[in-house]
Amino acid sequence: EAKRTGRGTLCFFDPDLDQVTRDRHALGKDLREALARQQFELHYQPVYAAVPRQLIGYEALLRWRHPDRGMISPAEFIPIAEETGLIHLLGEWVLHTACQEAATWPQDLQVAVNLSPAQFKREGLVKLVQTCLEQSGLTPARLELEITESVLLDETLANFSILKQFQSLGVKIALDDFGVGYSSLSYLRSFPFDKLKIDRSFVTEMPSSKQAAAIVRAITTLGHSLGMITTAEGVETQEQLDALRQERCDLIQGYLYGRPLPAEQLVHKGGQGA
Ligand code: C2E
Ligand code: MG
Ligand code: MG
Ligand code: MG
Repeated sequence: EAKRTGRGTLCFFDPDLDQVTRDRHALGKDLREALARQQFELHYQPVYAAVPRQLIGYEALLRWRHPDRGMISPAEFIPIAEETGLIHLLGEWVLHTACQEAATWPQDLQVAVNLSPAQFKREGLVKLVQTCLEQSGLTPARLELEITESVLLDETLANFSILKQFQSLGVKIALDDFGVGYSSLSYLRSFPFDKLKIDRSFVTEMPSSKQAAAIVRAITTLGHSLGMITTAEGVETQEQLDALRQERCDLIQGYLYGRPLPAEQLVHKGGQGA
């Protein structure tokens, strides 16, 4: 097998690649059994209004408690789930679980669920969301679906139609990792997202980088002009928070305010402090 290395040269028979392929294969097999063995968990990371600080809700983030390998990050296993098609069953489980859980929270709290582009390729996604809302009794406006630009890249028309159907159910739609894709602005023209989530890479560079701050300001201004609210992802320091408040970013999510936690550890505490 051939592999393109970081420097753009080709190198043949790369033992590392072989190992990576074998690992992925093994993980793929484990992944199929993991659902039945109840090895998946949702952790919930709090999202706060920037000013005044107030708990708005949580983003559901998937975790895999692997019996040998410990906690595995979704960044590692979601791509495999997408390749093997398990993403459909897994995505169903995530939606059902998040809605059931959120229905037990105080009425004003929302839950955000990440959708993989692969889930849009199979019929029945809208029906699934509807069923999850009905079975949990969760008010549709308390559910937010997070998608990335890649959902809009292919099968554009079909996916736009699905997003419109979500919105007619009363569900909110957020554009995740905003600013690092290819042609973000044209999507904003064609779909009325409820929220833009500013990618962590911009937040990380604040406040030292004037460029990053200018981009955050531009995204926030643009979003507001289009009737969308903005969330900053990955806020880790007070300095970042101050800078984000100055740039009028609406919502704050990051380790500064809270890490993702298992449902039973959530406290639902609102304001207090800065
Ligand atoms: P995302 O949706 O952009 O989620 C935000 C990621 O940033 C999460 O990583 C979160 O734990 C992390 N994060 C939050 N605050 C901070 C911070 O202050 N500093 C740093 N360094 N990181 C922070 P996580 O949980 O590893 O998830 C990674 C990605 O996996 C997610 O990115 C999302 O794209 C995907 N993912 C997670 N859960 C699901 C799911 O249920 N379904 C699908 N399809 N994808 C999921
Ligand atoms: Mg997300
Ligand atoms: Mg994100
Ligand atoms: Mg991200």
